[in-house]
Amino acid sequence: MSSEYLSPWAKNIAPSPTLAVDAKAKALKAAGEDVCGFGAGEPDFDTPQFIKDACAKALADGKTKYAAAPGLPELRQSLAEQYHQQGVLAEANPAQVVVSPGGKYSCYLAILATCGPGDEVLIPAPYWVSYPEMVKLAGATPKVVLAGDDQGFKITPEQVKEAITPATKLIILNSPSNPTGCLYDREEMEAIMDLAISKNLLVMSDEIYEYLLYDGSVHHRPASFCKEAQDRVITVSGFSKTFSMTGWRLGTLVANPTIAKAVANLQSQTSSNATTFAQYGALAAVQNWEDSMQAVNEMLVHFDRRRLVLLDGLNNIPGIECLRSQGAFYLFPKVSSFGLSSEEFSAQLLDQEKVAVVSGHAFGADGYIRLSYATSDEIIQKGLSRIEEFCSNLK
Ligand SMILES: *Cc1c(COP(=O)(O)O)cnc(C)c1O
Repeated sequence: MSSEYLSPWAKNIAPSPTLAVDAKAKALKAAGEDVCGFGAGEPDFDTPQFIKDACAKALADGKTKYAAAPGLPELRQSLAEQYHQQGVLAEANPAQVVVSPGGKYSCYLAILATCGPGDEVLIPAPYWVSYPEMVKLAGATPKVVLAGDDQGFKITPEQVKEAITPATKLIILNSPSNPTGCLYDREEMEAIMDLAISKNLLVMSDEIYEYLLYDGSVHHRPASFCKEAQDRVITVSGFSKTFSMTGWRLGTLVANPTIAKAVANLQSQTSSNATTFAQYGALAAVQNWEDSMQAVNEMLVHFDRRRLVLLDGLNNIPGIECLRSQGAFYLFPKVSSFGLSSEEFSAQLLDQEKVAVVSGHAFGADGYIRLSYATSDEIIQKGLSRIEEFCSNLK
C-alpha cells in the first residue's frame, strides 16, 4: 500500500534516531561484528532487587487488573508528598500527580494538553529528539533555539526573550540534559523562569535525569522557585533513568490541578493506567527512599568513573573537544573540525570502526556527536582507541 493512505501525522513523523542507532548496532552485533555501542539511552544496570521484589509480589498477589487511569492512589499520594517536600507542590495533593506509561508519554501528554494549532513551543537545542515531533503531533510549531558548547549548551535569557512571540505558549527545559549532560544552575534557571512568568508562558521541565548528578552538582526544580512557578511549570520525570527501569514504562507528571486533570483525561482515553503491577515496584522505590538513593549512588560511582575516563579520552584525541558534563550519562563532543557533517562522521565511524554513536544532527546540533557511557569500562577503552584511530585517518 502506498503512503497516501497515511494520515498527515504519520506522514510527517520521523522515527526516533536514537532507537534507530541502537537497533543498527544490535543488528551488527547479531551478525557477529564486534561493535562498541555508545548509542544506548538507558542505564546498563539491573533494576534494584527490592523494587523487582515488590513488583513480583504484586503480580503473585493478583494485581493484574486495570488500576485507576492516572495511577495507583497510594503511589500518587507518596509522590505528592515527595513533591510537596521539594517545593514543587504547594500541598501534597495527589490530584496534581499523574503516573503514566513512561516519561516519554508524560512529555507527550503535557504538550498535547497545553498546545495546539497556532501555538509555538520554544525548544532549546541540543534537544531530546522527541520534543519537536511531539509538538508537531499536537499541531503546534516547534521553535528551536540553539545553544552551542561556547555557552555550555544552555540558552540565555536574551535568546529566550528574542525567540518569544505572541504565539509562544510553552518553553521546554531539560536539566540535566539529554544529549549534553549539562545542568542549569539556580540563577540561569531563575532568569528563564522570570521571563516565562512575565510573559504568561507555561514551562515543561523534563527532570528525568534529576538524580544522576556528578561533581557535587545540585539539581534545581523550576516549579519550586515561587507560587507562580508552581502554577506554570509542568514537571515531568519517571523511574526509567534513576532506577534503571526503562522497560517498566513508568513516568510521572506534576502540574496545576487544571492541567493535571486534562492530562489524566487524555491518558484515560488513550492508554489507561500504566501497568498495574509495575506501579507497585515504583511504590516500593518511593516509599523506601533511603534504599532507593543508596542503589542510585552505587550506580553513580560507576557512571562517574566512566564519565571521567571517556571525557579525558575524548579530549586527548586531536580535533575533538568535549565539555565536562554534570549529569545524566552522556557526553556531547564537538567533531566539526574534521570537516564532515555529524551524520557523515557517525555513519563512517560505525562503518569503518564499528563504533555506534548518535549524530548531533538528531538533537538539532550539527557538528557534535552523542556518546552514552552507560556501557562497560572495557567498551569505553576499546571504543576510545577506535575513535582515535578513525580521527587520525581523517586528518
Ligand atoms: C529517557 C528520557 C525520557 C523518558 O523516558 P521513559 O523511558 O519514557 O520514561 C524523557 N526525557 C528524556 C530527555 C529522556 O532522555
